[in-house]
Amino acid sequence: MRVKNRKTINILTSILVFTLVMIFPANANIYKIPSQQVELPPLEPAPDLKLNIRKFPFPYTGMLAISSDIDATSVAEFEDYHRFLNTHELTPYGQGLGLDIADSAWMYQVSNYSDLIDSEGHSLAYSMAYFQGVDTQVFKDADKIKHYFNVGWIDSLHTFGDFSRKDKNLLCTRDLADKAWTEMKKNGFMPKVWINHGTETNAQNFGAYLPQTLYAYQQGDNSQSPYYHTDLTLNNGIRFVWNSTGGVQYSFEDPLYPLTLRDGRQIWGFQRYSYDEVKGKRVWTWEPHEIPRQLTKPHLDELYQAEKYTILAQHLGKGNAAQVFNSNDAQALRLLKNYQDEGKILVAGTERLLNYARVHHYIRYEVLQADGKYYINLEKIADPVLGESVPTLEDIRGLTFYVNEPEKYTLLLDLKLIPDEEIKSNKADKSGNKSIGIKWFTPDYTDYTK
Ligand SMILES: [Zn+2]
Repeated sequence: MRVKNRKTINILTSILVFTLVMIFPANANIYKIPSQQVELPPLEPAPDLKLNIRKFPFPYTGMLAISSDIDATSVAEFEDYHRFLNTHELTPYGQGLGLDIADSAWMYQVSNYSDLIDSEGHSLAYSMAYFQGVDTQVFKDADKIKHYFNVGWIDSLHTFGDFSRKDKNLLCTRDLADKAWTEMKKNGFMPKVWINHGTETNAQNFGAYLPQTLYAYQQGDNSQSPYYHTDLTLNNGIRFVWNSTGGVQYSFEDPLYPLTLRDGRQIWGFQRYSYDEVKGKRVWTWEPHEIPRQLTKPHLDELYQAEKYTILAQHLGKGNAAQVFNSNDAQALRLLKNYQDEGKILVAGTERLLNYARVHHYIRYEVLQADGKYYINLEKIADPVLGESVPTLEDIRGLTFYVNEPEKYTLLLDLKLIPDEEIKSNKADKSGNKSIGIKWFTPDYTDYTK
């Protein structure tokens, strides 16, 4: 009988493992559940021990993401510039930088503007998009988008698509939103970041509606509108929205702010730096040849010295020259890599940066003790916008606690031991304090275009 039960358990475990593998294929950072849970001694509260959380993962004191809108980008351009940004391969721009930079994607491309998107003279219809036009029976770049989402080169939805129209027709209906989510769910393409796109025919945009203003066209969160979708969109896991506003401030204490939508739902808004003000005028900095304006030494120094977050808005694939980056652009990106190499600024995908900021702010933990050892138990994320949740290991990556004697500390997630290989113990930083934390995501330099 016992043997039979054990067999059943083994079979169930195999099914569970198989299911997990199917849900999270080929992602090196997915938490492996330890095969044996170590038994903990009886733990007592350690009420006198008050710890501080380091603002960023050791040794960094700033964090930066490049948040790129997928406008007018062919698959070939996407692969070309991500090889330089994300891998260590030899590329037309020099040796790849190996940075964690994640892009955005479209489901539909239905613009009727006449722009060309690349050096081969392709029109907008050739832009990287999941479906062919609005035909959800015909997949255009679905396989590529799913692949690059799985490997971490895409983490954002640039709304459902490009609905910019000269004829002023509003084409992004709720039906298209519904069909998009149905397919995305089926295929496991489930980004958590939404970035508004384009002008007033993009009625799917949301988060900044105000009558009599530039943003009066936004209908995505108006439950009375045929373009309403935020019930579907938030239920399907979108947590963070860039609502089209702001943009002159370079860095932030906290990149997130709570946003109540017109349908009463709550979501995190986030800030992106996208222009400078020169003599009272906006000078947009969100195209590739403006990267040297975005990544200057004074900007980067301010970011890490003031211990802040920056999200740079970009359109890395816009423009139609044969080369995405010129030598100045590549040099500015190399400067950013140097700041990371020197332990000053951690470059992270947009979703990773935003989720880190969220968890850093709202993690709730208790300090426990037994036999002269201390246990930091991460209990929950008390997120006032998305609600309370028990964190996953992915959620708590990078969290770092200042402690006097790291060797006396163990980290627990919901009273379960976090495996040693996930823990990082650090020497004193410039504050004079040692620390212990959960490792950040393992860098991945794989050339996923191969
Ligand atoms: Zn756009």
